[in-house]
Amino acid sequence: SKFKETTFSGFCKTDVIFLFSKIKNHNKINKVAIITGGASGIGEATALLFAEYGARVVVIADIQDEKGQNLVNSIGTHRSTYIHCDISDESQVKSLVETTVQLYGRLDIMFCNAAIVTLHLLQTVTDFDFDSYEKVLAHAARAMVDGGQKGSIICTSSLATSTGLEKSTDYVMSKCAVLGLMKSASMQLGGHGIRVNCVSPGAVLTPLFCKAFRGESMEMMEELVESSSYMKGSMKAKHVAEAVAFLASDNSEFVNGHNLVVDGGLNNVNAQ
Ligand code: NAD
Repeated sequence: SKFKETTFSGFCKTDVIFLFSKIKNHNKINKVAIITGGASGIGEATALLFAEYGARVVVIADIQDEKGQNLVNSIGTHRSTYIHCDISDESQVKSLVETTVQLYGRLDIMFCNAAIVTLHLLQTVTDFDFDSYEKVLAHAARAMVDGGQKGSIICTSSLATSTGLEKSTDYVMSKCAVLGLMKSASMQLGGHGIRVNCVSPGAVLTPLFCKAFRGESMEMMEELVESSSYMKGSMKAKHVAEAVAFLASDNSEFVNGHNLVVDGGLNNVNAQ
């Protein structure tokens, strides 16, 4: 009867099936992805989320071999693999991309995320060699162009590009450079169907964050993260990972050259 075919809200059965399939496909990532710095923090959360969203394979590239291998074991060796790669060594970056393409036939997503902090944030922070980002992006882009398929490259910048950090000039400069690289690359690669975007996190309690504030108590660091947003509670690596998953998925297929800030609203205040 007509009654059976319609729902209380007036949708017919086919509408409901269509809606459910849409929800099921939300951020679906049926693709081959590499995540640099994938063994910890934001990279780790993103690897787990990509797997949850159905990634064909997540290649976790890092220098922390044991942590990376443990993550692969928890995701499953059929859906993920670990490749040791120090992004400051170009031959390792080249080999990472080549091995991925050899093993899985293609590269669809590159999340350029690895970085380090070496000293206390309030003295100096020496970030990664900026060149590394450029090389990771260049090798990934070449593999995607050669493969002739669409691609998504996401780079991790930082909220610090708009707020600044009082005594961390080099860190802020390098993260601004990442934004500049992303902007130009997005224009150059868009015609090949390759999108390049950034995600810019605010404060997240990760090993990198703890290292930057080493010497401070865990309680103080937790309070700092909690007070660094206008949302209730603290921002977690998973919140950044969700933004990365959106940029990686076809749901963002016309988002290119964008810097997606994930900071619980803190940036709004600084922008005023
Ligand atoms: P994390 O320390 O938890 O993870 C970084 C990972 O990168 C580690 O697994 C580390 O082993 C790896 N790595 C470091 N050097 C490497 C190298 N040379 N080659 C390969 N891998 C290397 O830190 P995180 O907080 O998850 O940081 C991820 C990204 O987020 C970084 O780019 C960082 O600058 C950015 N970020 C973090 C915050 C924050 O508050 N945590 C805020 C803004 C931006």
